[in-house]
Amino acid sequence: MKRVMIETYPRSGHHFLIHKILYPICNNPLNYCECYDHCNTVPCPDNRRIQKSHDFLLKDPILENFKYLIQYRHPYESIVSFFKLMETENNVNYQYDRKGWNDFLNNKIDYWLAFMDKWAGSQSLFNNDVMHVQYSQLINDLEETVTKITHFIEIDDYDKSKLQEINPRKLTNTRNFEYFKLRDIWKVDRRCKEAIKRLQIEKVTI
Ligand SMILES: [Zn+2]
Repeated sequence: MKRVMIETYPRSGHHFLIHKILYPICNNPLNYCECYDHCNTVPCPDNRRIQKSHDFLLKDPILENFKYLIQYRHPYESIVSFFKLMETENNVNYQYDRKGWNDFLNNKIDYWLAFMDKWAGSQSLFNNDVMHVQYSQLINDLEETVTKITHFIEIDDYDKSKLQEINPRKLTNTRNFEYFKLRDIWKVDRRCKEAIKRLQIEKVTI
């Protein structure tokens, strides 16, 4: 059974997948490393079977004999949610006003493009042992997506009936974002056009 690296752009549904879906439905321990609250090392030196990484520095190795699950969503939605999280956590690296948001957005678009270029490019880099999971698939098609994911990560002992108890609603309403501007969505769409089109990423819902 191969180990699984989950490379996820921040705020793309990873927490939802692990804590609201896999932990509740799986009958056996997940053997999961959250990375940042555990070893902060890729791969996990504790040999946990499933590991998360945001690859902030884009230095994670691409490991042979690992499976790769790649999580992403429309960059505007991820980045809004990311900014709100930093504000909630009072992260001192950022400034929480219109200018701070503009700087954050530009910086995180660059990170999104580089992240996607590395992780959502050629499948052959991963010996074709790679699966992409978009946030919209989890939200819109929970049961089918979870069935595919559990198959991919080789978890067969899980309670499917518990999926009925999960409420897959979107948690970020971009329209309520205090710095919302339609032209920011246009900017993101323009800059990320190639990847959005290639990966058929769902449009922002406002
Ligand atoms: Zn670890």
